Amino acid sequence: MEPTISRKSFNPFEMAQTQFDKVADILQMDTATRELLRHPFREFHFSIPIHMDDGSMKVFRGFRVQHNDARGPCKGGIRFHPQETIDTVRALAMWMTWKCSVVDIPLGGGKGGVICDPHNLSAREQEQICRGWVRQLAKVVGHVVDVPAPDVMTSGQHMLWMLDEFELIHGGHYPGFITGKPVGMGGSLGRTEATGYGAVFAIREALKEMGIRPDGTTASVQGFGNVAQYAIELYHQIGGKVICVSCWDQKDQSSYTYRKKDGINLDALLRITDRFGGIDKGKARELGYEALPGDAWIEQDVDILMPNAIENQITAQNVQKISKRVRLIAEGANGPTTPEADKVIAERGIFLIPDFLANAGGVTCSYFEQVQSNMNYFWEKDEVLGKLDVKMTAAYLAVSELARQRKLFMRDAAYVIAVSRVAQACKDRGWV
Ligand code: NAD
Repeated sequence: MEPTISRKSFNPFEMAQTQFDKVADILQMDTATRELLRHPFREFHFSIPIHMDDGSMKVFRGFRVQHNDARGPCKGGIRFHPQETIDTVRALAMWMTWKCSVVDIPLGGGKGGVICDPHNLSAREQEQICRGWVRQLAKVVGHVVDVPAPDVMTSGQHMLWMLDEFELIHGGHYPGFITGKPVGMGGSLGRTEATGYGAVFAIREALKEMGIRPDGTTASVQGFGNVAQYAIELYHQIGGKVICVSCWDQKDQSSYTYRKKDGINLDALLRITDRFGGIDKGKARELGYEALPGDAWIEQDVDILMPNAIENQITAQNVQKISKRVRLIAEGANGPTTPEADKVIAERGIFLIPDFLANAGGVTCSYFEQVQSNMNYFWEKDEVLGKLDVKMTAAYLAVSELARQRKLFMRDAAYVIAVSRVAQACKDRGWV
Protein backbone atom coordinates (compact mmCIF):
# COMPACT_ATOMS: atom_id res chain seq x y z
CA MET A 1 0.00 0.00 0.00
CA GLU A 2 1.24 3.52 -0.73
CA PRO A 3 1.69 6.23 1.89
CA THR A 4 -0.24 8.72 -0.16
CA ILE A 5 -3.21 10.79 0.90
CA SER A 6 -4.34 10.78 -2.73
CA ARG A 7 -3.15 8.62 -5.58
CA LYS A 8 -3.13 9.93 -9.14
CA SER A 9 -6.18 7.88 -10.10
CA PHE A 10 -8.12 8.87 -7.00
CA ASN A 11 -9.56 12.33 -6.50
CA PRO A 12 -11.31 12.68 -3.11
CA PHE A 13 -13.12 15.85 -4.17
CA GLU A 14 -14.65 14.09 -7.19
CA MET A 15 -15.70 11.32 -4.82
CA ALA A 16 -17.29 13.83 -2.39
CA GLN A 17 -19.11 15.46 -5.33
CA THR A 18 -20.30 12.07 -6.64
CA GLN A 19 -21.74 11.27 -3.21
CA PHE A 20 -23.35 14.71 -3.05
CA ASP A 21 -24.88 14.46 -6.58
CA LYS A 22 -26.54 11.18 -5.64
CA VAL A 23 -28.19 12.82 -2.62
CA ALA A 24 -29.11 15.95 -4.57
CA ASP A 25 -30.97 13.61 -6.97
CA ILE A 26 -32.75 11.85 -4.08
CA LEU A 27 -33.75 15.27 -2.70
CA GLN A 28 -34.68 16.57 -6.19
CA MET A 29 -32.60 19.64 -5.38
CA ASP A 30 -32.90 22.75 -7.56
CA THR A 31 -29.94 23.70 -9.78
CA ALA A 32 -28.82 26.80 -7.83
CA THR A 33 -28.65 25.02 -4.46
CA ARG A 34 -26.87 22.12 -6.13
CA GLU A 35 -24.26 24.43 -7.68
CA LEU A 36 -23.77 26.25 -4.37
CA LEU A 37 -23.26 23.10 -2.33
CA ARG A 38 -21.13 21.02 -4.70
CA HIS A 39 -18.31 23.64 -4.57
CA PRO A 40 -16.61 25.42 -1.65
CA PHE A 41 -17.84 28.91 -0.86
CA ARG A 42 -14.28 30.25 -0.44
CA GLU A 43 -10.68 29.02 -0.73
CA PHE A 44 -7.35 30.44 0.34
CA HIS A 45 -4.06 29.26 -1.21
CA PHE A 46 -0.85 30.73 0.12
CA SER A 47 2.91 30.37 0.69
CA ILE A 48 4.64 30.08 4.06
CA PRO A 49 8.37 30.96 3.86
CA ILE A 50 10.39 29.43 6.71
CA HIS A 51 13.97 29.86 7.92
CA MET A 52 15.07 26.24 8.33
CA ASP A 53 17.39 25.11 11.13
CA ASP A 54 20.27 24.61 8.67
CA GLY A 55 20.11 28.28 7.65
CA SER A 56 18.33 27.65 4.34
CA MET A 57 14.98 29.15 3.34
CA LYS A 58 12.07 26.92 2.36
CA VAL A 59 8.60 27.84 1.09
CA PHE A 60 5.66 25.63 2.10
CA ARG A 61 2.23 25.66 0.43
CA GLY A 62 -0.79 26.16 2.69
CA PHE A 63 -4.56 26.00 2.17
CA ARG A 64 -7.83 26.81 3.88
CA VAL A 65 -11.14 25.88 2.30
CA GLN A 66 -14.45 27.20 3.71
CA HIS A 67 -17.11 25.02 2.14
CA ASN A 68 -20.30 26.39 3.71
CA ASP A 69 -21.20 28.47 6.77
CA ALA A 70 -25.00 28.76 6.46
CA ARG A 71 -25.52 26.95 9.79
CA GLY A 72 -22.64 28.60 11.70
CA PRO A 73 -18.89 29.35 11.61
CA CYS A 74 -16.81 26.92 9.53
CA LYS A 75 -15.13 24.16 11.49
CA GLY A 76 -12.43 21.75 10.45
CA GLY A 77 -8.93 20.45 11.01
CA ILE A 78 -5.53 21.30 9.56
CA ARG A 79 -3.45 18.49 8.10
CA PHE A 80 0.31 18.43 7.70
CA HIS A 81 1.06 15.88 5.00
CA PRO A 82 3.68 15.60 2.20
CA GLN A 83 1.02 14.53 -0.34
CA GLU A 84 -1.61 17.09 0.70
CA THR A 85 -3.59 18.38 -2.29
CA ILE A 86 -6.19 21.12 -2.65
CA ASP A 87 -8.75 18.54 -3.79
CA THR A 88 -8.22 16.52 -0.60
CA VAL A 89 -8.80 19.68 1.43
CA ARG A 90 -11.92 20.54 -0.62
CA ALA A 91 -13.38 17.10 -0.07
CA LEU A 92 -12.65 17.18 3.65
CA ALA A 93 -14.19 20.67 3.97
CA MET A 94 -17.36 19.48 2.26
CA TRP A 95 -17.54 16.40 4.49
CA MET A 96 -17.19 18.72 7.52
CA THR A 97 -20.30 20.64 6.43
CA TRP A 98 -22.29 17.39 6.33
CA LYS A 99 -20.72 16.11 9.55
CA CYS A 100 -21.65 19.19 11.61
CA SER A 101 -25.11 19.06 10.13
CA VAL A 102 -25.74 15.36 10.72
CA VAL A 103 -24.97 15.72 14.44
CA ASP A 104 -26.95 18.96 14.44
CA ILE A 105 -24.34 21.33 15.84
CA PRO A 106 -24.45 25.02 14.79
CA LEU A 107 -21.29 24.99 12.65
CA GLY A 108 -20.37 24.81 8.96
CA GLY A 109 -17.56 23.03 7.13
CA GLY A 110 -13.93 24.00 6.57
CA LYS A 111 -10.54 22.30 6.26
CA GLY A 112 -6.93 23.32 5.95
CA GLY A 113 -3.55 21.90 5.27
CA VAL A 114 0.13 22.45 4.64
CA ILE A 115 2.22 20.36 2.25
CA CYS A 116 4.99 19.24 4.60
CA ASP A 117 6.27 16.16 6.40
CA PRO A 118 6.58 16.71 10.17
CA HIS A 119 8.75 13.56 10.36
CA ASN A 120 11.53 15.65 8.76
CA LEU A 121 10.91 18.96 10.56
CA SER A 122 12.20 20.12 13.94
CA ALA A 123 9.78 21.44 16.56
CA ARG A 124 10.97 24.99 15.82
CA GLU A 125 10.36 24.58 12.09
CA GLN A 126 6.87 23.21 12.76
CA GLU A 127 6.13 26.14 15.09
CA GLN A 128 7.16 28.56 12.32
CA ILE A 129 4.83 26.81 9.85
CA CYS A 130 1.95 27.07 12.36
CA ARG A 131 2.59 30.77 12.95
CA GLY A 132 3.00 31.42 9.20
CA TRP A 133 -0.32 29.66 8.48
CA VAL A 134 -2.12 31.93 10.98
CA ARG A 135 -0.40 35.11 9.73
CA GLN A 136 -1.78 34.38 6.25
CA LEU A 137 -5.33 33.83 7.49
CA ALA A 138 -5.72 35.89 10.70
CA LYS A 139 -8.33 38.19 9.12
CA VAL A 140 -10.53 35.43 7.70
CA VAL A 141 -10.67 32.94 10.58
CA GLY A 142 -11.76 33.30 14.22
CA HIS A 143 -14.39 32.07 16.68
CA VAL A 144 -17.33 33.65 14.81
CA VAL A 145 -15.96 32.93 11.31
CA ASP A 146 -13.92 29.76 10.98
CA VAL A 147 -12.54 27.58 13.78
CA PRO A 148 -9.58 25.28 12.97
CA ALA A 149 -8.57 22.09 14.81
CA PRO A 150 -5.95 19.33 14.59
CA ASP A 151 -6.06 16.55 12.01
CA VAL A 152 -3.54 14.07 10.60
CA MET A 153 -0.03 14.86 11.92
CA THR A 154 -1.05 17.99 13.86
CA SER A 155 -1.52 18.08 17.63
CA GLY A 156 -2.52 20.23 20.61
CA GLN A 157 0.93 21.82 20.54
CA HIS A 158 0.42 22.97 16.96
CA MET A 159 -2.97 24.45 17.93
CA LEU A 160 -1.42 26.34 20.83
CA TRP A 161 1.25 27.91 18.61
CA MET A 162 -1.51 28.92 16.21
CA LEU A 163 -3.64 30.37 19.01
CA ASP A 164 -0.68 32.31 20.34
CA GLU A 165 0.00 33.83 16.92
CA PHE A 166 -3.70 34.71 16.47
CA GLU A 167 -3.80 36.39 19.90
CA LEU A 168 -0.58 38.30 19.18
CA ILE A 169 -2.11 39.66 15.99
CA HIS A 170 -5.50 40.52 17.49
CA GLY A 171 -4.24 41.64 20.91
CA GLY A 172 -6.46 39.70 23.32
CA HIS A 173 -7.43 36.23 24.47
CA TYR A 174 -9.57 34.33 21.96
CA PRO A 175 -9.43 30.69 23.07
CA GLY A 176 -12.56 29.96 20.98
CA PHE A 177 -10.52 30.61 17.81
CA ILE A 178 -9.16 27.08 17.66
CA THR A 179 -9.94 23.71 19.22
CA GLY A 180 -7.93 20.63 20.09
CA LYS A 181 -5.85 22.72 22.51
CA PRO A 182 -4.09 21.00 25.42
CA VAL A 183 -6.23 20.57 28.54
CA GLY A 184 -5.44 23.42 30.94
CA MET A 185 -4.72 25.72 28.00
CA GLY A 186 -8.29 26.04 26.75
CA GLY A 187 -8.70 22.42 25.73
CA SER A 188 -11.65 20.25 26.69
CA LEU A 189 -11.39 17.11 28.74
CA GLY A 190 -12.54 14.21 26.61
CA ARG A 191 -11.42 15.71 23.26
CA THR A 192 -8.60 13.20 22.86
CA GLU A 193 -10.99 10.31 23.32
CA ALA A 194 -13.94 11.88 21.49
CA THR A 195 -13.59 10.63 17.90
CA GLY A 196 -12.74 7.04 18.78
CA TYR A 197 -15.30 6.89 21.58
CA GLY A 198 -17.95 8.53 19.37
CA ALA A 199 -17.45 5.82 16.73
CA VAL A 200 -17.94 3.15 19.38
CA PHE A 201 -21.11 4.84 20.73
CA ALA A 202 -22.47 4.47 17.18
CA ILE A 203 -21.20 0.87 16.92
CA ARG A 204 -22.90 0.05 20.25
CA GLU A 205 -26.24 1.41 18.97
CA ALA A 206 -25.88 -0.40 15.64
CA LEU A 207 -25.17 -3.73 17.35
CA LYS A 208 -28.17 -3.17 19.62
CA GLU A 209 -30.42 -2.65 16.58
CA MET A 210 -28.94 -5.74 14.92
CA GLY A 211 -29.60 -7.80 18.04
CA ILE A 212 -25.89 -8.57 18.55
CA ARG A 213 -24.27 -8.36 21.98
CA PRO A 214 -20.93 -6.48 21.77
CA ASP A 215 -19.17 -8.93 24.07
CA GLY A 216 -18.01 -11.82 21.98
CA THR A 217 -17.67 -9.75 18.78
CA THR A 218 -14.30 -9.32 17.11
CA ALA A 219 -12.90 -6.46 15.05
CA SER A 220 -10.07 -5.61 12.69
CA VAL A 221 -8.79 -2.02 12.73
CA GLN A 222 -6.87 -0.07 10.10
CA GLY A 223 -4.78 2.67 11.72
CA PHE A 224 -3.30 3.00 15.17
CA GLY A 225 -3.41 6.76 15.71
CA ASN A 226 -5.72 8.89 17.81
CA VAL A 227 -9.02 7.61 16.40
CA ALA A 228 -8.07 3.94 16.36
CA GLN A 229 -6.47 3.89 19.82
CA TYR A 230 -9.52 5.28 21.63
CA ALA A 231 -12.00 3.33 19.52
CA ILE A 232 -10.14 0.18 20.57
CA GLU A 233 -10.09 1.27 24.23
CA LEU A 234 -13.87 1.74 24.44
CA TYR A 235 -14.65 -1.24 22.20
CA HIS A 236 -12.63 -3.43 24.59
CA GLN A 237 -14.52 -1.89 27.53
CA ILE A 238 -17.87 -2.90 26.04
CA GLY A 239 -16.57 -6.45 25.64
CA GLY A 240 -15.31 -6.61 22.05
CA LYS A 241 -11.98 -8.06 20.97
CA VAL A 242 -9.67 -6.45 18.38
CA ILE A 243 -7.51 -9.08 16.70
CA CYS A 244 -5.36 -6.85 14.49
CA VAL A 245 -4.33 -3.29 13.72
CA SER A 246 -2.66 -1.94 10.61
CA CYS A 247 -0.36 1.09 10.49
CA TRP A 248 2.22 2.93 8.43
CA ASP A 249 5.90 2.14 8.92
CA GLN A 250 7.93 5.26 8.25
CA LYS A 251 11.25 3.41 8.07
CA ASP A 252 10.08 0.82 5.52
CA GLN A 253 7.76 3.28 3.70
CA SER A 254 5.11 0.59 3.78
CA SER A 255 2.20 -0.45 5.98
CA TYR A 256 1.85 -3.62 8.09
CA THR A 257 -0.97 -5.41 9.82
CA TYR A 258 -0.08 -6.63 13.32
CA ARG A 259 -2.22 -9.59 14.28
CA LYS A 260 -2.74 -11.60 17.44
CA LYS A 261 -5.65 -13.96 16.98
CA ASP A 262 -6.48 -14.17 20.69
CA GLY A 263 -6.75 -10.35 20.84
CA ILE A 264 -4.30 -7.46 20.87
CA ASN A 265 -3.03 -5.96 24.13
CA LEU A 266 -3.72 -2.23 23.72
CA ASP A 267 -1.43 -1.01 26.53
CA ALA A 268 1.48 -3.16 25.38
CA LEU A 269 1.11 -1.94 21.78
CA LEU A 270 0.87 1.70 22.90
CA ARG A 271 4.24 1.35 24.65
CA ILE A 272 5.91 0.50 21.29
CA THR A 273 4.05 3.09 19.19
CA ASP A 274 5.43 6.47 18.14
CA ARG A 275 3.48 9.74 18.24
CA PHE A 276 2.43 9.29 14.60
CA GLY A 277 0.70 5.99 15.35
CA GLY A 278 3.52 3.85 13.93
CA ILE A 279 4.21 0.55 15.71
CA ASP A 280 7.80 -0.69 16.09
CA LYS A 281 7.82 -3.82 13.90
CA GLY A 282 10.71 -5.56 15.65
CA LYS A 283 9.25 -5.06 19.11
CA ALA A 284 5.78 -6.15 17.92
CA ARG A 285 7.28 -9.42 16.69
CA GLU A 286 9.02 -9.88 20.06
CA LEU A 287 5.60 -9.48 21.72
CA GLY A 288 4.24 -12.30 19.55
CA TYR A 289 2.44 -10.31 16.85
CA GLU A 290 2.42 -11.55 13.25
CA ALA A 291 3.53 -8.72 10.89
CA LEU A 292 1.31 -9.25 7.83
CA PRO A 293 1.07 -7.06 4.70
CA GLY A 294 -0.57 -3.67 5.27
CA ASP A 295 -3.84 -4.48 3.54
CA ALA A 296 -4.38 -7.79 5.37
CA TRP A 297 -6.61 -6.02 7.91
CA ILE A 298 -9.46 -6.02 5.37
CA GLU A 299 -9.58 -9.81 4.86
CA GLN A 300 -9.77 -10.86 8.52
CA ASP A 301 -12.52 -13.20 9.70
CA VAL A 302 -14.14 -10.74 12.12
CA ASP A 303 -17.59 -9.23 12.83
CA ILE A 304 -16.59 -5.58 12.54
CA LEU A 305 -14.17 -3.63 10.32
CA MET A 306 -12.96 -0.24 11.51
CA PRO A 307 -11.10 1.67 8.78
CA ASN A 308 -9.56 4.33 11.04
CA ALA A 309 -6.47 5.42 9.07
CA ILE A 310 -6.81 7.41 5.82
CA GLU A 311 -9.06 7.69 2.76
CA ASN A 312 -9.38 5.41 -0.28
CA GLN A 313 -8.72 2.15 1.57
CA ILE A 314 -11.77 0.02 0.69
CA THR A 315 -11.86 0.07 -3.10
CA ALA A 316 -13.19 -1.89 -6.09
CA GLN A 317 -9.86 -3.78 -6.02
CA ASN A 318 -10.08 -5.13 -2.47
CA VAL A 319 -13.75 -4.97 -1.41
CA GLN A 320 -14.29 -8.61 -2.43
CA LYS A 321 -11.67 -9.65 0.12
CA ILE A 322 -13.99 -8.68 3.00
CA SER A 323 -14.85 -11.86 4.89
CA LYS A 324 -18.40 -13.27 4.81
CA ARG A 325 -18.49 -12.97 8.57
CA VAL A 326 -18.27 -9.15 8.57
CA ARG A 327 -21.62 -7.65 9.65
CA LEU A 328 -20.63 -4.05 10.32
CA ILE A 329 -18.18 -1.46 8.94
CA ALA A 330 -17.70 1.69 11.03
CA GLU A 331 -15.70 4.34 9.17
CA GLY A 332 -13.60 6.20 11.74
CA ALA A 333 -11.44 7.71 8.96
CA ASN A 334 -12.69 10.25 6.46
CA GLY A 335 -13.49 8.81 3.03
CA PRO A 336 -12.05 5.30 3.46
CA THR A 337 -14.55 3.71 1.03
CA THR A 338 -14.90 4.53 -2.68
CA PRO A 339 -18.36 4.73 -4.31
CA GLU A 340 -17.61 1.51 -6.30
CA ALA A 341 -16.81 -0.38 -3.10
CA ASP A 342 -19.91 1.14 -1.47
CA LYS A 343 -22.11 -0.56 -4.07
CA VAL A 344 -20.64 -3.97 -3.27
CA ILE A 345 -20.99 -3.39 0.49
CA ALA A 346 -24.66 -2.42 0.03
CA GLU A 347 -25.34 -5.45 -2.23
CA ARG A 348 -23.76 -7.77 0.31
CA GLY A 349 -25.98 -6.30 3.03
CA ILE A 350 -23.08 -5.28 5.27
CA PHE A 351 -24.31 -2.57 7.62
CA LEU A 352 -22.19 0.59 7.31
CA ILE A 353 -21.87 3.56 9.65
CA PRO A 354 -20.64 6.27 7.26
CA ASP A 355 -17.57 8.37 8.03
CA PHE A 356 -19.22 11.72 8.68
CA LEU A 357 -21.54 10.10 11.22
CA ALA A 358 -19.10 7.56 12.73
CA ASN A 359 -16.30 10.07 13.29
CA ALA A 360 -18.49 13.07 14.22
CA GLY A 361 -17.55 12.65 17.90
CA GLY A 362 -14.41 14.70 17.28
CA VAL A 363 -16.15 17.76 15.93
CA THR A 364 -18.95 17.43 18.47
CA CYS A 365 -16.43 17.61 21.28
CA SER A 366 -14.60 20.43 19.48
CA TYR A 367 -17.89 22.28 19.51
CA PHE A 368 -18.10 21.64 23.27
CA GLU A 369 -14.53 22.92 23.59
CA GLN A 370 -15.43 26.06 21.67
CA VAL A 371 -18.48 26.68 23.87
CA GLN A 372 -16.39 26.17 27.02
CA SER A 373 -13.59 28.40 25.66
CA ASN A 374 -16.03 31.19 24.79
CA MET A 375 -17.53 30.97 28.31
CA ASN A 376 -14.11 30.47 29.93
CA TYR A 377 -15.74 27.79 32.06
CA PHE A 378 -14.70 24.17 31.68
CA TRP A 379 -16.72 21.02 32.32
CA GLU A 380 -15.69 17.77 33.99
CA LYS A 381 -14.73 14.87 31.72
CA ASP A 382 -17.82 12.80 32.62
CA GLU A 383 -20.04 15.71 31.65
CA VAL A 384 -18.28 16.10 28.28
CA LEU A 385 -18.40 12.39 27.45
CA GLY A 386 -22.00 12.14 28.66
CA LYS A 387 -23.06 14.99 26.36
CA LEU A 388 -21.08 13.37 23.54
CA ASP A 389 -22.90 10.07 24.01
CA VAL A 390 -26.28 11.87 23.91
CA LYS A 391 -25.40 13.70 20.66
CA MET A 392 -23.87 10.68 18.90
CA THR A 393 -26.69 8.34 19.91
CA ALA A 394 -29.38 10.81 18.78
CA ALA A 395 -27.62 11.37 15.44
CA TYR A 396 -27.12 7.64 14.87
CA LEU A 397 -30.77 6.83 15.68
CA ALA A 398 -32.11 9.58 13.40
CA VAL A 399 -30.04 8.26 10.48
CA SER A 400 -30.84 4.58 11.03
CA GLU A 401 -34.56 5.35 11.39
CA LEU A 402 -34.60 7.25 8.09
CA ALA A 403 -32.61 4.45 6.43
CA ARG A 404 -35.21 1.91 7.58
CA GLN A 405 -38.23 4.08 6.71
CA ARG A 406 -37.05 4.98 3.20
CA LYS A 407 -35.04 1.79 2.59
CA LEU A 408 -31.86 3.80 2.05
CA PHE A 409 -28.22 2.74 2.41
CA MET A 410 -26.95 4.27 5.67
CA ARG A 411 -24.56 6.64 3.88
CA ASP A 412 -27.41 7.98 1.74
CA ALA A 413 -29.69 8.37 4.77
CA ALA A 414 -27.00 10.34 6.63
CA TYR A 415 -26.48 12.50 3.55
CA VAL A 416 -30.21 13.13 3.12
CA ILE A 417 -30.47 14.44 6.71
CA ALA A 418 -27.26 16.48 6.58
CA VAL A 419 -27.64 17.98 3.11
CA SER A 420 -31.28 18.92 3.53
CA ARG A 421 -30.52 20.81 6.77
CA VAL A 422 -27.76 22.82 5.03
CA ALA A 423 -29.87 23.43 1.89
CA GLN A 424 -32.72 24.66 4.08
CA ALA A 425 -30.37 27.05 5.96
CA CYS A 426 -29.14 28.46 2.62
CA LYS A 427 -32.74 28.94 1.49
CA ASP A 428 -33.82 30.49 4.82
CA ARG A 429 -30.96 32.99 4.57
CA GLY A 430 -32.09 33.91 1.06
CA TRP A 431 -28.88 32.68 -0.61
CA VAL A 432 -30.61 30.54 -3.22
P1 NAD B 1 -3.24 9.85 13.23
O1 NAD B 1 -2.22 10.57 12.42
O2 NAD B 1 -3.22 9.96 14.71
O3 NAD B 1 -3.18 8.28 12.87
C1 NAD B 1 -3.24 7.80 11.56
C2 NAD B 1 -2.93 6.32 11.62
O4 NAD B 1 -3.11 5.75 10.31
C3 NAD B 1 -1.50 6.00 12.05
O5 NAD B 1 -1.50 4.87 12.88
C4 NAD B 1 -0.82 5.67 10.72
O6 NAD B 1 0.30 4.80 10.87
C5 NAD B 1 -1.96 4.99 10.01
N1 NAD B 1 -1.79 4.92 8.55
C6 NAD B 1 -1.41 5.91 7.70
N2 NAD B 1 -1.34 5.43 6.45
C7 NAD B 1 -1.68 4.12 6.50
C8 NAD B 1 -1.79 3.08 5.56
N3 NAD B 1 -1.55 3.30 4.27
N4 NAD B 1 -2.16 1.84 5.99
C9 NAD B 1 -2.40 1.61 7.30
N5 NAD B 1 -2.32 2.56 8.24
C10 NAD B 1 -1.95 3.79 7.85
O7 NAD B 1 -4.65 10.30 12.63
P2 NAD B 1 -6.07 10.24 13.34
O8 NAD B 1 -6.30 11.52 14.03
O9 NAD B 1 -6.24 8.97 14.08
O10 NAD B 1 -7.03 10.26 12.05
C11 NAD B 1 -7.32 9.07 11.32
C12 NAD B 1 -8.45 9.34 10.34
O11 NAD B 1 -9.59 9.80 11.07
C13 NAD B 1 -8.19 10.41 9.29
O12 NAD B 1 -8.91 10.07 8.11
C14 NAD B 1 -8.79 11.67 9.90
O13 NAD B 1 -9.16 12.62 8.93
C15 NAD B 1 -10.02 11.06 10.57
N6 NAD B 1 -10.58 11.85 11.66
C16 NAD B 1 -9.84 12.17 12.75
C17 NAD B 1 -10.42 12.88 13.79
C18 NAD B 1 -9.68 13.20 15.05
O14 NAD B 1 -10.30 13.76 15.97
N7 NAD B 1 -8.43 12.83 15.20
C19 NAD B 1 -11.75 13.31 13.69
C20 NAD B 1 -12.50 12.96 12.57
C21 NAD B 1 -11.89 12.22 11.55
